[in-house]
Amino acid sequence: MENFDVAVIGGGPGGYVAAIRAAQLGNKTVLIEKDKVGGTCLNRGCIPTKALLHSAEVYQKMLYADKLGLSAENISFDYSKIAARKDDIVNRLISGVQGLLRAHKVTLLNGNAVLAGNTLINVGDMQVQADKIILATGSVPSGISVKGIETSGVMNSDGVLSLTQLPDSAVIIGGGVIGMEIASLFNALGKAVTVIEMLPSILTGMDEQICSTMTRVLEKKGIQIYTNAKVTEIKKGLSVVFEIDGKQSEVQGAVCVVAVGRRPATAHIGLEEAGIKMEHGCVLVDEYMRTTVPNIYAIGDITGKIQLAHAASAQGLIAAHNAGGQNKRMSYDIIPSCIYTSPEIASVGLTEAQARAKSIYFKTGTFNVAANGRSMIIGAKDGFAKVVTDAATGEILGAQIMAPHATDMISEIAAIMKSEGTIEELSDTIHPHPTISEIIMEAAHDVHGLCCHKTDLV
Ligand code: FAD
Repeated sequence: MENFDVAVIGGGPGGYVAAIRAAQLGNKTVLIEKDKVGGTCLNRGCIPTKALLHSAEVYQKMLYADKLGLSAENISFDYSKIAARKDDIVNRLISGVQGLLRAHKVTLLNGNAVLAGNTLINVGDMQVQADKIILATGSVPSGISVKGIETSGVMNSDGVLSLTQLPDSAVIIGGGVIGMEIASLFNALGKAVTVIEMLPSILTGMDEQICSTMTRVLEKKGIQIYTNAKVTEIKKGLSVVFEIDGKQSEVQGAVCVVAVGRRPATAHIGLEEAGIKMEHGCVLVDEYMRTTVPNIYAIGDITGKIQLAHAASAQGLIAAHNAGGQNKRMSYDIIPSCIYTSPEIASVGLTEAQARAKSIYFKTGTFNVAANGRSMIIGAKDGFAKVVTDAATGEILGAQIMAPHATDMISEIAAIMKSEGTIEELSDTIHPHPTISEIIMEAAHDVHGLCCHKTDLV
């Protein structure tokens, strides 16, 4: 049996970051991972999806080359090569994470970890002792219990990401972030896509204007979207039966992708035996990332807070510091969330609806992508930036962007919010021209009705 100061279970973006920080703080640290380091994010999530979406985006751009005065003939793609490029990126990043762990002298143990008490962990036939334990076992895809769910051709996001050929059509159950990114991938590569969503809108929780604009944009691209629709059966040959407006309907697809969310990976890791309390299927943690057992912390998707890689990493840093005796608190107020559809979507802080629900007297400013010079240069016309501010204090409560590079641009707003800047600071920040980021400044000007480039024609 080997003894450690800190043991981290699970090597996703929560766990490996926590392990590195624990080691940086001078702790003898072990990271136990049963599969590959990088977790869902690197192996079956963020990275592979965005690698595939990038190929699809470039393919779309090539199809419209003539609009830029260019000629490109016989444009086509070989999906096996797109998938191989994705695998190559994933493998290189896995090696990178392994290198980082080595450089920080974190011991990497490959095996399935099960708690055997509050300081003991069984890993196969080995036992590890650690004064502090950080649980970071992540999440797994949720399923649905409908007749025919076992039918061949029904898969979850893991299945989609392991395809080496792209089927001609897909029915996607679930219009959340993962479902819509997969829908965008198939659509951009010319495949027929139908999305069936049980709720009244796709991308529930996002700004309402973003949801309606994105629905319109995707439908224009040929994606068929059914909302308020409940899947009742999947038939062989792949026909998905669903109820909508009290009537039964049916759509065909070569594959059916179930993208109905993810559940924390809490089974068979000895939580109950260690006396760790759960709430709604998630490990209960406080703002210091402590579980109900004093020396055991939990981070990432297993805590059921926000299922995002950067949230898991942020929690991981907090847990590592606190395991080393500090008292850092996790705050969930300013965590950007991004969707890699085309155009991209990014949001931080409160939406209008959330500000209204909190009875905050707020003001908004908006600016359309179509009125931005750089957007015209790159051929983008859909989308907008919106800033939500406290009407009394000018505090920036949140922002939503649907635009090219929205996912990169949102960090500007997050940084201003974090440094407690107001709408004045955002308005007075000189943005370079011509850039798409100018839509953020224009939206800030619009909060006071002082936007120079906005007309009724926009
Ligand atoms: P995970 O990444 O799930 O890692 C947990 C690790 O623990 C796994 O490697 C697992 O093998 C290991 N493990 C589990 N049990 C044990 C055990 N008993 N012993 C040893 N090891 C164990 N988030 C974003 O921020 N941006 C995105 O663009 C994005 N895109 C996504 C796309 C898809 C298709 C999916 C599915 C998810 C996406 N996410 C995205 C979500 C993101 O991947 C997760 O929020 C993130 O990976 C959670 O990190 P984690 O460290 O909590 O757990």
